[in-house]
Amino acid sequence: MQEESGIRRCARCGEPAVVVVRRWERRAVFGLVSTGRTGRLDLRCQSCGAAVSIWDSPVQRAMLGVASVQAGLVGVFLLVLAGEAVREGLSPWVALGFAYVGALVTGLSAFASHHFYTSWQAPRRSPVVPIARVPAMRFPEPEPARRCTCGGLAPATAVKARAVTLVPAGVDTTHTCSSCQRSFTVPDDVSLGFFGVAGAILTPLLGVVAVHPPGEAALTDANTLFLLGVIGFFVLLAWGFLALGVRNRSRHPVV
Ligand SMILES: [Zn+2]
Ligand SMILES: [Zn+2]
Repeated sequence: MQEESGIRRCARCGEPAVVVVRRWERRAVFGLVSTGRTGRLDLRCQSCGAAVSIWDSPVQRAMLGVASVQAGLVGVFLLVLAGEAVREGLSPWVALGFAYVGALVTGLSAFASHHFYTSWQAPRRSPVVPIARVPAMRFPEPEPARRCTCGGLAPATAVKARAVTLVPAGVDTTHTCSSCQRSFTVPDDVSLGFFGVAGAILTPLLGVVAVHPPGEAALTDANTLFLLGVIGFFVLLAWGFLALGVRNRSRHPVV
């Protein structure tokens, strides 16, 4: 693990003071992914406190890059299909459906590409400095503290990574105020993206089920209502978590 050894130069303040403060490990999946080389490294500059993450596995970074490019191609293809549907004079709902899913997939691809580019550039932006002295540990915690609404300092007290099947779905960090003891949870960008995509997929599904209940014979009105209730619950959950996350991030700025 070449990435973790050595002290790196800070991209923000230029000091040779960026060191590893946390190493994420991921479990092997069906024996395909070995532990150790697949973790994420969280580093912090001991001079200015800047936080940076580095994916330790080049394979993982390459997979993210390929997946985002492929998603982009699929998204553009769906947008082309939407145009075809309009030209062929199909129902406007067909064109709208293709356009919506196409825009969603293209947006996801842009988000993933940005994430990929940032993680690809991170080791280059903070290169290893061969002869740097080990700096005094002024910022031993991986997460920067945030400001509580009472004005107090709120260091991170818990970190939770979410994953859906094998796909990482964001990291939520809980901060606890050292003055008033109140806690709040702050999601990362991937976490916000996860809830945004969930809401963007489930909301139109709710509309489709409401307008065209599936299988008239199989589903009674009560069953349709139940289905609407279940989807509606997750729609509220997705948009609710997204709104709460955005609010918590803006109310509690990084110190
Ligand atoms: Zn720095
Ligand atoms: Zn407080």
